[in-house]
Amino acid sequence: MRTLRQGSNGSDVIEIQNVFQKMGYSPGPIDGVFGLRTQETVTRFQTDNNLRADGIIGPNTHKVLLKFLLGYENYTLKSGDTLSLIAHKYHLNLPLLLTANPGIDIIKLRIGQVIIVPYAYDVVDTNVNYTFETMERDVLGLQSRYPFIKVEIAGKSVLGKNLYTLKMGNGPVEVFYNAAHHGLEWITSPLLLKFAENFAKAHSEGRKMRGYDPRDILKQNTIYIMPMVNPDGVDLVLKGLRRDHPFYDQLIVWNKGRMNFGTVWQANIRGVDLNHNYDASWELSKQAEPTYGVHGPGPTRFSGTLPESEPESKAVADFTRNHNFKLVIAYHSQGEEIYWTFEDKTPAEAQRIAQLFSRVSGYAMVQPTGMTSFAGYKDWFIDKFRKLGFTIEVGLGNNPLPISQFSKIYQDQEELLLMAPITARSV
Ligand SMILES: [Zn+2]
Repeated sequence: MRTLRQGSNGSDVIEIQNVFQKMGYSPGPIDGVFGLRTQETVTRFQTDNNLRADGIIGPNTHKVLLKFLLGYENYTLKSGDTLSLIAHKYHLNLPLLLTANPGIDIIKLRIGQVIIVPYAYDVVDTNVNYTFETMERDVLGLQSRYPFIKVEIAGKSVLGKNLYTLKMGNGPVEVFYNAAHHGLEWITSPLLLKFAENFAKAHSEGRKMRGYDPRDILKQNTIYIMPMVNPDGVDLVLKGLRRDHPFYDQLIVWNKGRMNFGTVWQANIRGVDLNHNYDASWELSKQAEPTYGVHGPGPTRFSGTLPESEPESKAVADFTRNHNFKLVIAYHSQGEEIYWTFEDKTPAEAQRIAQLFSRVSGYAMVQPTGMTSFAGYKDWFIDKFRKLGFTIEVGLGNNPLPISQFSKIYQDQEELLLMAPITARSV
């Protein structure tokens, strides 16, 4: 992370202000502007943590802040410590402490033993612009706090960013949720990670969610999540094009000379639209490009030179081929719509399940026409496996949807995400 000081601004400043607030400081408005109030908070934080109190977030302060951003610390047991006392001191439910330390023997604790202590706040923030860095930290934070979540890397983006996957459960019926194939649609990433966090928390505490029992779901299902398929595209949208970007010159050409990427860029960093890059009537997608004014790499709708030409779509397809998914959902924005068909390949049960999804989310069922119906992930999944594939378009408005829509989107989707693994058992 870069050094932050008075006058800095941006999404990293929002994150810092946000974590100070979660820790109980009063940083003022969470506005991404490092003003006097933020500086005072940094100084207080530095004093509290025996750091040089200069009000600047340099490497040393950042190192201490990182554990609060990740949401846990490594705690060395002292004489007289019990897990209940530690939980009490950290305002934490004991089951969350036990979850974070699987296999710990509570009657044989040793002085000097290091355990993981989660902080009493949530890791996944739903009020910040969700860059790759934020997503990565949340994934690592969730993995440490809930080690039953298995994190793997399915591949790398063009720029070498990890394509993370999360796995919850060991049941025989596997489902797969993915998000942010498109750069502008990054709001779908915190949707899936917030769901993972709430689900893992309820699972640990033995609570139901909306009447669904997470423990029952994870006995019979395995839920896989890839929260950000297109991290290079997301970061271009959220951070803009900096001079040192390895594709600086090409991106400007592909964007027809415009420097604005934040309201237009859906593709990966080579200008290929990943959701037109799967092998399902791909040639039709390709042929249709000129009618959309597409003649090569660009912000949207360029299908690439071949199906799976891009490392991101290839990784998603490989990941899918290496599993036995009964049901997949690809999250996009926007429209409050559910797409559930592909040509004449749609399985018989899809309509009934789409109706259920529509009922619990309030979203409309849509059967597409034209180019949107070719070469997308769910098209490919239905085409190749003849199983249940859905594209869900969350929210309403112009992409990128503002994070202020998050809470409605999450409320609309939570039951659907709980129900999908169960519906997959019956097919
Ligand atoms: Zn999309």
